[in-house]
Amino acid sequence: MNEYGYKAKDATVAKLGLANVAAAYWNLDASELIKETIIRGEGELTDTGALAVDTGEFTGRSPKDKFIVLDNITKDTVWWGDVNFKFDPVKFDKLYDRVTSYLGGKEVYVRDSYACASPKYKLNVRVVTETPWANLFANNLFLRPTKEEILSFVPEWTIVCAPGFKAVPAEDGTRQHNFAILNFTRKVILIGGTGYTGEIKKGIFTLLNYILPQEKGVLSMHCSANIGKNGDTAIFFGLSGTGKTTLSADPERGLIGDDEHGWSENEVFNFEGGCYAKCVDLTKEKEPQIFNAIRFGALLENIEFTDGTSSVDYKNVSKTENTRVAYPINFIDNAVEPSVGAAPKNIFFLTCDAYGVLPPISKLTTGQAMYHFISGYTAKVAGTEMGITEPTLTFSACFGKAFLPLHPAKYAELLGKKLSSGNVNVWLVNTGWTGGSYGVGSRMKLSNTRAMITAAMNGELEKVKMETMPVFGLQMPTACPNVPAEILNPRNTWKDKDAYDAKANSLATSFVKNFEQYASAANEEIIKAAPKVVENA
Ligand code: ATP
Ligand code: MN
Repeated sequence: MNEYGYKAKDATVAKLGLANVAAAYWNLDASELIKETIIRGEGELTDTGALAVDTGEFTGRSPKDKFIVLDNITKDTVWWGDVNFKFDPVKFDKLYDRVTSYLGGKEVYVRDSYACASPKYKLNVRVVTETPWANLFANNLFLRPTKEEILSFVPEWTIVCAPGFKAVPAEDGTRQHNFAILNFTRKVILIGGTGYTGEIKKGIFTLLNYILPQEKGVLSMHCSANIGKNGDTAIFFGLSGTGKTTLSADPERGLIGDDEHGWSENEVFNFEGGCYAKCVDLTKEKEPQIFNAIRFGALLENIEFTDGTSSVDYKNVSKTENTRVAYPINFIDNAVEPSVGAAPKNIFFLTCDAYGVLPPISKLTTGQAMYHFISGYTAKVAGTEMGITEPTLTFSACFGKAFLPLHPAKYAELLGKKLSSGNVNVWLVNTGWTGGSYGVGSRMKLSNTRAMITAAMNGELEKVKMETMPVFGLQMPTACPNVPAEILNPRNTWKDKDAYDAKANSLATSFVKNFEQYASAANEEIIKAAPKVVENA
């Protein structure tokens, strides 16, 4: 048979409808996948030994092209609506066959991997990719079974990823030529028309966001996690670009994981076995751990080189702002093994507030924590190339609405139980603007954010006097080691105080309006924690 590499004896791609491929390469080492990529002309090595590829037409996820097959499992359980689009099961079967026949005659790469670092929740995933570098991505991002485990590997879920296959919407039932479709009956994630590797990663995340809360009572979370020398776990929730990956890479603390975790009875565990870090403006000085992880075995996406060299120009974002690197978690020196820690002592909600309204750090009551979790606020700064200067508000429930197959109330309910039963501190951290909104102020210095988080974790913010921020009612520390005191209250950093008050009010109004859709699922304590718009006489 045309199958090569390392695999279980009875494992075959024929079972997946791929008997007609030219060759299936199983579980190749990183070095072999890198070599294949270079031979195929799909990538090149950088001066630090990392593999650089272009993902093609798509350099980011395409949320509108993500579907869930409507079946007996999902029918009454999935939160259908603006993030979870229905897909017809018959159309899926046809599309699957069209994808597998497209792969016929081609070489494919198969990777046996798993999700969930806690043995109790381990989920075996087989990933079949059209390109060797997408397979390297799966190797780097998911957990890697031992050689022995591969010999008896039985996949529970399968991902088939064929970026070169373009759907025909009228025939295939897709929105456009690209798609990522989850089928719970067949336990398959089918990806086509897009080479963006994030679809593979977030496909599994979506799946776990269904299985774990629904079937196992585990809270699944869009957060990073790290652990102190005394075994104190911290988790960092946040939407894209708010700092999960950056802030969890802390030389003083062990890294549990950078993006997706579960919180079971008494532990926090990583879903993944690697990190997917942003590379824009990366420097060795500001983010040494990530910088040093970009070496042989790491996969860089959509970067540019400095002219005439193989050295990466991280400032150059001409292909996309979303330049990325995927590396196995052990490329970070102090990653903990296995990626598991105790239940968290500190929870940080990261928000990149481009309005410069929210304090750089504040402590939340349980009601406020629930309110902000359900709200999931951040503000995105529009791409500079479009000449847009106004930041855009985003409310994304549970700091990850795009990946939630269940109603946000389900996740909130699980978090609520955890907050009421344990003594855990919850902090809101604004990694966004200070001294004014985008265009006037500037982004919070990373070193300041790091110092505030360190102080919160060390208990130093418990000792200082707090003041209450009007409108949002947040508790702001008045002092923090290694941070200039004047930045702790955002109003102080604005020249125009009236402008600040007006912005705070308008942000509060947006919060209130957004929350209306969830009000029926919230109790009095949560509703009371809402910001209160102050009428200016
Ligand atoms: P994603 O979910 O897309 O992976 P993320 O939450 O992991 O996003 P990061 O990759 O950590 O986000 O991106 C944060 C970016 O913002 C980094 O490029 C970082 O250098 C930059 N940054 C600038 N100032 C700060 C700050 N004060 N705190 C955190 N990050 C900052
Ligand atoms: Mn990240």
